[in-house]
Amino acid sequence: MAYEPIWMADPSKLNKVELQKIEKDGLDVIRTIIEQYATEGYDAITEDDMNRFKWAGVYEQKPKDGHFMMRVRINSGVMTSAQARALAEIGQLYGRGLIDVTTRQAIQYHWLRVENLPDIFKRLEAVGLYSFEACGDCPRTIVGNPLADIDPDELMDTTALVNQVNDFFLLNRDFSNLPRKYKMSISSNIYNSGHAEIQCLAFTPATKVIDGQEVLGFHAWVGGGLSAKPHLAKQLDMFVRPEEVLKVAIGVTTIYRDYGYREKRHHARLKFLMADWGPEKFKDKLIELIGDMPSLGEDKTIGWKAAYFDGVHPQKQQGLNYIGLSVPVGRLNSEELIELARISDEYGDSTIRTTVSQNIILSGVPDAKVEAALQEKVFERLTPNPGHFMSRTVSCTGNEFCNLAVVETKKRAVSVAEYLDAHVELDEEVRIHFIGCPNACGQKHIADIGLQGALVKTPEGMVDAFDLAVGGILGPNAQFNTTLKGRVKGDDVAPVLAQLILFYKENRSPEETFN
Ligand code: SF4
Repeated sequence: MAYEPIWMADPSKLNKVELQKIEKDGLDVIRTIIEQYATEGYDAITEDDMNRFKWAGVYEQKPKDGHFMMRVRINSGVMTSAQARALAEIGQLYGRGLIDVTTRQAIQYHWLRVENLPDIFKRLEAVGLYSFEACGDCPRTIVGNPLADIDPDELMDTTALVNQVNDFFLLNRDFSNLPRKYKMSISSNIYNSGHAEIQCLAFTPATKVIDGQEVLGFHAWVGGGLSAKPHLAKQLDMFVRPEEVLKVAIGVTTIYRDYGYREKRHHARLKFLMADWGPEKFKDKLIELIGDMPSLGEDKTIGWKAAYFDGVHPQKQQGLNYIGLSVPVGRLNSEELIELARISDEYGDSTIRTTVSQNIILSGVPDAKVEAALQEKVFERLTPNPGHFMSRTVSCTGNEFCNLAVVETKKRAVSVAEYLDAHVELDEEVRIHFIGCPNACGQKHIADIGLQGALVKTPEGMVDAFDLAVGGILGPNAQFNTTLKGRVKGDDVAPVLAQLILFYKENRSPEETFN
């Protein structure tokens, strides 16, 4: 170990997972999978190593019968058509053709077997992609602006910065043992496409006049996160030049690694350290590590569009367009992804982009080719003109595959969105997020209407139900949504939401929006 792990001074303060991590680093499980488990099979996997599988980006799938899910990191959600094709082929070969886009712009597979993993790692590496550290107590997929380099609403192209930070942390054993998961975003989009306030560390666009010259750079936000105790990230009083982003990321991650809490798993995220220290103390500690930094500049985030891009829109390059497609609850199949890769080669710039709203963007389509591109059959389902409610419905994995889920989510979310599109007419979009347990992978807290799965007792036994929360928003007026009283049975969610939205429609004041 290249650094001094100061948290090991008192092992009695470490939880069980911490002791596992000291015994064998999470990253070591990748070699064990390749050299041992892939040949010995599922039954040979020890309980401790099963927990370490997350560092390979792999989770055991429900009902624990030898199948796994895997996440693949996609920096800022931007991939080439060749990478998309490779991802689709892996899905076809090993994942029953099922491909999910996650709320961290990652690609998620299901139905994998441990015997398949070495070949999957190889196929991913061949196109410059990795599942490693997409899960686990380490720096995960770096979220960013999916429109990086083509965005009329960004101050600068952040592609190289995201790649630089990703390359530094990926498989870096100095940072592969953090107290818990660690999430970063880097975006220069003025509508907060990186969802800064819910990240452990986020960089948002800012400017500052330094030595008489306006410099484009970032503000840094630390200590956000969702789950049962959601926290909004706090802004540090500093301006970060682009060339200093990596230095700040290393400093913040070092503080988390060395001072983050390791006693209780549910109290280990960076948000708890930030809540105790506050942004001033945190900044002082950071300055100790990285040296002095300029104070805050001018914030350039002017709103929040929740990372929705559906429809055809002009890029910053004149004459070129991007097409935002709706992927209902983030789920598509291998054939569709292969088609999107072909279409991006034929009409666009051979680039496919995933969004934190679980959708997909094709880019680089010249004006003259847009109409022809839109005739492609795959756009009948993955449409750029989705139904009002279907277009804004997000869902976590739920109990179809997730061992932590209390209820089913994705199918329910689709049926609710279809019902609302058929029964409710509204001149604005309402964002509806479903989660199957308090872990909040579907980011319920930031939705206009957030639904969290629970169970209720009925004369027929326990049935799926949901707690409802309303009014979540990020950006300059960021706040989490407020939970309403009562619990709604799963089968009643669609009509109840229809009533709620119709009540709003009939009683709103002229300038009022749902949020
Ligand atoms: Fe699983 Fe809960 Fe995350 Fe949904 S929110 S995917 S149920 S852990």
